[in-house]
Amino acid sequence: MVKRALLSVSDKTGIAEFARGLESLGVKIISTGGTAKILRDAGIEVTDVSEVTGCPEMMGGRVKTLHPRIHGGLLCLRESKEQMAEAEREDISLIDMVAVNLYPFEVTISKEGVELEEAIENIDIGGPTLLRSAAKNYRSVTALSDPSDYGRVLKELRSTGVISEETRAALAVKAFRHTADYDAAIDTYLSKTLLGENVLRMNFTDGVKLRYGENWHQKAYFYKDPKIEGPTLAKATQLHGKELSYNNYVDADNALQTVKELGNANPAVAIVKHNNPCGLATGSTLLQALQAAWDGDPISAYGSIICTNETFDLKAATFLNGKFVEIILAPDFNPDALEYLKNKSENLRLLKLPDLREAFGTDYTYKYVIGGMLKQSRDISLYEKWESVTDMSYPEEKRSLSEFCLKACKSTKSNSVNLAYEYEPGFFMVLAMGAGQPNRVDSIRKLAATKAIENLKVIYERENPETSFEDYCQKVMSECVMASDAFFPFDDSIIHAAENNIRYIVSPGGSIRDGEVIAAANRLGVSMVFTGMRHFLH
Ligand code: 5GP
Repeated sequence: MVKRALLSVSDKTGIAEFARGLESLGVKIISTGGTAKILRDAGIEVTDVSEVTGCPEMMGGRVKTLHPRIHGGLLCLRESKEQMAEAEREDISLIDMVAVNLYPFEVTISKEGVELEEAIENIDIGGPTLLRSAAKNYRSVTALSDPSDYGRVLKELRSTGVISEETRAALAVKAFRHTADYDAAIDTYLSKTLLGENVLRMNFTDGVKLRYGENWHQKAYFYKDPKIEGPTLAKATQLHGKELSYNNYVDADNALQTVKELGNANPAVAIVKHNNPCGLATGSTLLQALQAAWDGDPISAYGSIICTNETFDLKAATFLNGKFVEIILAPDFNPDALEYLKNKSENLRLLKLPDLREAFGTDYTYKYVIGGMLKQSRDISLYEKWESVTDMSYPEEKRSLSEFCLKACKSTKSNSVNLAYEYEPGFFMVLAMGAGQPNRVDSIRKLAATKAIENLKVIYERENPETSFEDYCQKVMSECVMASDAFFPFDDSIIHAAENNIRYIVSPGGSIRDGEVIAAANRLGVSMVFTGMRHFLH
């Protein structure tokens, strides 16, 4: 039974309607100054807190509800005879519900040029205390900290006459989280303002235990960041397959970020293994993009994670027949494609993320190192300048392909070098990538260039063009673009690129040996552009 409720809110949204609803159910209402005025103006009968406590609101409103007649009424253990007798003796009436929202501390401190005094006045003391008292005694008391809960509470009261323990428990947790967040904001502000210390607080919720971590003997969990808008794995719905593993989260996140780099203008596909896109392509259809991405590394694509910005259709689904894939992440799945993929494998994880085409709602990324957290703004831009630095000027018609290639580098672990090819006018694919090498030249010599030739062999045999493999290979390599995530420290990378017929190179530039690098390019007939922006990814 709810007999008495205390309403004291800073944000008055919906409070009169809520109070009217309570009144109609026979609940007596107690309230503080500003809230009481609004309720009286709305024709609702209200008892002032000062009447209950026998004390006026004092200290300029700093002390309103901080009184045993209020907190005794909230905290009294109903099942304790002694406490109930004590309440009676001290003339304390029980309070069964509070609806409180706090002084807007965060809004206040986010205002330009706010003074310390104003911030301090906006530290609510009585409000959190009311919420904490009510939430502590949630077995008997309902603690409302959010106007969006008024409706469901009234509905429950109307239909059952009581508030269930389940609801009270959920609202109590919400109230404690709210006051914890509130205190965290005060700590962050005062640490900075009074002590010059920077505090980083993060709130992750809804943690789930994963089957294991990066390896079987490691424990792992995934927590959601409820504040982040836009497409996130936390918002994806799993339509089919085994639960996601730790590595699945890491790789699916890379796949998602990589596809997002390419925008929504064309169907795009990223194929990720071990936190690197081994395939990346755009196409006129999803099937075409998927085939081209697969061609970027058909060996590594085994057991991969696929992400696309397109609704997954049956043609793309049938392309995967006989191919082992761990996850498909897409904005949606056509019903026939979904059916097909469900039958393909019990384990294949199908993740639907309707927000996938939206922008990411965060400007920062975080990385935990033992004993600390690194925070940095996301690597959002692509280049600072577009400066052709060679005798042979960099052709403008290679710019879109070069941008695509740079985007591939951005998502690939350093040192990264990517080769990209315009396999059809306006549509691009990664021909091969070199990732994660401790020196740049190996990323080209031992990886990207070698792999490109292997991949071209597969495409050549499938498409069977009327030319020799050597000629075919030479032609493709001479048309493709090579992008590097950072400058070339020596001219050796250029020499290896030229040996493989590569003629267009994009790099940030900025090495002390840029002169030698450019001279090698000029000598070997390579044209090169400097972008001025490095894209390391560790
Ligand atoms: P009202 O507008 O009703 O006068 O004040 C409502 C606000 O007062 C709410 O934000 C509530 O959290 C806060 N409040 C309630 N009791 C006290 C108290 O004893 N001291 C302070 N500083 N604030 C209180």
